[in-house]
Amino acid sequence: MTAHVKPKALDDFKARDFRMLIDGVWTEGVGRTLERVAPGHGVVVSRYPAGTKADAERAIAAARKAFDNGPWPRMTGAERSNILLRAADLIAAKADELAFLDCIESGKPISQAKGELGGAADIWRYAAALARDLHGESYNTLGEGTLGVVLREAIGVVSIITPWNFPFLIVSQKLPFALAAGCTTVVKPSELTSGSTLLLGEILIEAGVPAGVVNIVTGTGPEVGAPMTTHPDVDMVSFTGSTGVGRLTMANAAQTLKKVSLELGGKNPQIVFPDANLDEFIDAAVFGAYFNAGECCNAGSRLILHKSIADEVTARVAELAKKVKVGDPLDPTTQVGAIITPQHLEKIGTYVDGAAKAGASVALGGAALDLGLGQFMAPTILSGVKPDMAVAREEVFGPVLSVLTFETTDEAIRIANAIDYGLSAGVWSRDFDTCLTIGRKVRAGTIWMNTFMDGASELPFGGYRQSGLGRELGRHAVEDYTETKTLNMHMGARTGWWMPR
Ligand code: NAD
Repeated sequence: MTAHVKPKALDDFKARDFRMLIDGVWTEGVGRTLERVAPGHGVVVSRYPAGTKADAERAIAAARKAFDNGPWPRMTGAERSNILLRAADLIAAKADELAFLDCIESGKPISQAKGELGGAADIWRYAAALARDLHGESYNTLGEGTLGVVLREAIGVVSIITPWNFPFLIVSQKLPFALAAGCTTVVKPSELTSGSTLLLGEILIEAGVPAGVVNIVTGTGPEVGAPMTTHPDVDMVSFTGSTGVGRLTMANAAQTLKKVSLELGGKNPQIVFPDANLDEFIDAAVFGAYFNAGECCNAGSRLILHKSIADEVTARVAELAKKVKVGDPLDPTTQVGAIITPQHLEKIGTYVDGAAKAGASVALGGAALDLGLGQFMAPTILSGVKPDMAVAREEVFGPVLSVLTFETTDEAIRIANAIDYGLSAGVWSRDFDTCLTIGRKVRAGTIWMNTFMDGASELPFGGYRQSGLGRELGRHAVEDYTETKTLNMHMGARTGWWMPR
């Protein structure tokens, strides 16, 4: 274990003490305090209250009261939209502070954290636009005596539970859409990275969101998250995290038949044909595998290469991967930061060792890096991986790239689909038919063609199979937070008892 010296960049930095937001009041809570040790620096940077079941219940009661009697669901779409736009402006104005918190708490590079904040502000603006456009349908075609109107009503109280890997970005893929629909919320950020979400609470109050509409409770999953998934006063749970906890969330929510939206894990393939633009692909392969240190649901963690180019492509990917700058997350030139916890670093190592034992070769990296800061992992490439190995099927969530090969298009599709996940995939070929065949036959929520991990607020995102349920972003994202109500209106004499025609 390395002895940690407080890095120069944190010389003037004092660990921040955060409080929870319940019913518009900042509160210490009655429980313990959780200390966050920066994964890239080894020093305590944040302290949050360890919320309890009672805190979660108070927050749910506040959200219920704000939904049933408060102004938020009763405002016009334009009023809610204006407040969300103010929030977006404040997020943009405070982007550096928010990015700094995400950087030190999660270990991601500061330049990347700043990029994520730009993306998040854009999502708040997009949701603000949708708030004004939320509408139902009408049917004037049901006969002279009948008019059918289909309303979209806010679903009610929404529990929002988020992971540590994109702390501000992921809460921004949920909360503004729930708010746009007129819902009230209880938010639980990851216990490892709660800082920027708590700062968002301050921003939302400043923007004009009324008390009780957004409550933020910090703490662990079992203590705070679980009651948010079972409480009868919660109408919907929007969860992003691991497939295991997603499964538990769905089972918990089933007790009261809540609507559930789940964004879970991935094991995403990039399929490469011999006619691909390899220069473009090599860069995308390295980016796809090592962005956010591979701690990314969307990581392109499986390369499925045509056999005829596999050796050349693997060598070129390794060559470029060697140049990736792993280091202090606060250094603006760092490309790959720290691993979230020492335990997680160990888990990544276990996958690499297991693959080597099962017959894969370590073509690059394969071990932890001692940089005298926190915990880091070398960009790693495993070649000769077979589809049935654990490293080819399970989410490693680290900078580990598995290389598999194929000979026919059908075989590539079979390998791509031979896992439980279906979040995203990439295909590389200059041939339109090839790209479209892969695009239509690979079972995943997003297929990138000759690019990887691009996104836009307008494009829906989510998974097939055990990668999740429902979609975030895109024009229907607000509708996810609504119920549909039918108004069946009659004029004149009824026809009496309905009989089969
Ligand atoms: P995790 O499942 O351990 O935790 C996610 C959240 O759930 C945390 O806030 C945690 O405290 C909470 N939680 C834990 N136990 C709970 C319980 N019993 N009841 C309710 N809540 C509970 O996930 P993580 O390690 O924080 O994040 C990494 C995972 O998230 C990876 O699997 C990754 O693929 C996934 N992820 C998916 C997406 C996507 O959009 N599909 C995006 C980012 C991350």
